[in-house]
Amino acid sequence: MADTNNILEDGLSAADMMDKGHGLTYNDFIILPGFINFAADTVDLSSQLTKKIVLKTPLISSPMDTVTEAPMAISMALCGGIGIIHHNCLPEYQANEVLKVKKYKHGFIHDPVVLCPTNTVADVLKVKKEHGFCGIPITEDGNLGGRLVGIVTSRDIDFLEDGNMNAKLESIMTKFENLVTAQSGVTLAEANYILEKSKKGKLPIINAQGNLIALMARTDLKKAKSYPTASKDDNKQLIVGAAMGTREEDKDRLRHLVNAGVDVIVLDSSQGNSVYQIEMIKHIKKSYPNLQVIAGNVVTVKQAKNLIDAGADGLRVGMGSGSICITQEVMAVGRPQATAVYRVSHYAKKFNVPVIADGGIQSIGHIIKALSLGASTVMMGSLLAGTSEAPGEYYFSDGVRLKKYRGMGSIEAMDRKDAMGSAMNRYFHSEADKLKVAQGVSGSIVDKGSVLRFVPYLQCGIRHGCQDIGATSLAILRNMMYDGELRFELRSHSAQLEGNVHSLFSYEKRLF
Ligand code: GDP
Ligand code: 5GP
Repeated sequence: MADTNNILEDGLSAADMMDKGHGLTYNDFIILPGFINFAADTVDLSSQLTKKIVLKTPLISSPMDTVTEAPMAISMALCGGIGIIHHNCLPEYQANEVLKVKKYKHGFIHDPVVLCPTNTVADVLKVKKEHGFCGIPITEDGNLGGRLVGIVTSRDIDFLEDGNMNAKLESIMTKFENLVTAQSGVTLAEANYILEKSKKGKLPIINAQGNLIALMARTDLKKAKSYPTASKDDNKQLIVGAAMGTREEDKDRLRHLVNAGVDVIVLDSSQGNSVYQIEMIKHIKKSYPNLQVIAGNVVTVKQAKNLIDAGADGLRVGMGSGSICITQEVMAVGRPQATAVYRVSHYAKKFNVPVIADGGIQSIGHIIKALSLGASTVMMGSLLAGTSEAPGEYYFSDGVRLKKYRGMGSIEAMDRKDAMGSAMNRYFHSEADKLKVAQGVSGSIVDKGSVLRFVPYLQCGIRHGCQDIGATSLAILRNMMYDGELRFELRSHSAQLEGNVHSLFSYEKRLF
């Protein structure tokens, strides 16, 4: 008599699906649904970033100069993920971005616009036009960190006649002796209390010498939301990563990053299986034993082995799958991303080395597929590039609000003027290379609003996907895959078309 278990067996295990021989992308397969006996909001999304760092949300912003600087890294960490600061800039600049994340205190404005006593009313109106606010602290030298001498707010300038535009701020500002201030080290709760009691609109924060450190705005009091799942270190500061290369001069960059308090280093190479990367991992492990190192990129088991043997605490997987990437077309090397994630994760698991699925993530479905093939976390470029936290200004094209997004191997990124030229770019091979061979393109992305709204949408979607599968946590999802309980099916071209919107004359795709 047939075994009922066999009769009920449907679809393929991940191992069987991957053994069919073709390289698979996320779109080539689908996951079969499981049994639901829990609510979606109970799904635990915590996952290892490295051997020692656990994130509450398995999401990472990519080290690209149109994706991650301090504002992105702060928002990603507040949401329980992490941002990796790019290195297409001077070491001092990159280290300062790291420092901004480490010093971030929720609710405080750390880089307020500051003027000096000899600035005029016209200068205040200019700030108002450009930034939309006019509560401006005045310091002796007009810089943050200078001695606080007063503050100008809308109430000081509202009733001034046109003829007063040249009036100096020292004649209209509220002077220091009449200001309510707080000392540096004040907690968010204490500062909020002072603002509430004093009924003032702004609270300048100063140090013992009277120098301006930060500002708080009354308007933010109500908005001050707590982020219970924020990614923090033992000192309750947000955590942040930084990318770097593997050249000799990168050791100096590393020193700057360590001094700024970086939590994790990402060695940024498109083909990470090199003697340079192995030596850099060993150097970091010897010089800074507590610093976590993510190595890569890799797509095969043999590449992974060398980096794990050298001491990597995490692996970044992906070659040629990124949205802006032309590596597979130009170099003829790489691997379809779903296969790469499965193969490397399967091997790295034996050494407890977590894997980041990097590149090619176009939707929540892709995130769930990457995690279901063994990745612990997912790195995104294009998905986050159009958000307000991404570096760069919005611009309009044909009435659509856009932001620039470019591959780090695009000619444009390799030519970046304020960077130290080619030496720091992972796609530019040697000083002897006369001609640059692009491995990426430059384009634009539609406005996605703030990461603080977009990431919760992703989290909610991942939880619902896990619920459909029947996994109450990401750890259980991975176990189900390795046990063969999680079932997959390959999708023909027409199955993929069926899985997308079809048969409509027109439609609007609103995601959240
Ligand atoms: P103001 O009274 O004209 O300064 O404006 P509001 O206090 O009503 O709003 C200022 C908003 O802008 C708050 O949400 C601040 O957190 C935000 N903001 C961001 N950067 C700055 C800054 O440099 N100075 C001020 N005053 N506000 C800032
Ligand atoms: P996305 O999320 O946009 O699909 O892919 C982002 C990833 O693409 C990055 O994290 C990085 O690994 C990779 N990447 C960034 N710039 C380039 C480039 O110019 N060429 C290639 N081949 N990959 C890139």
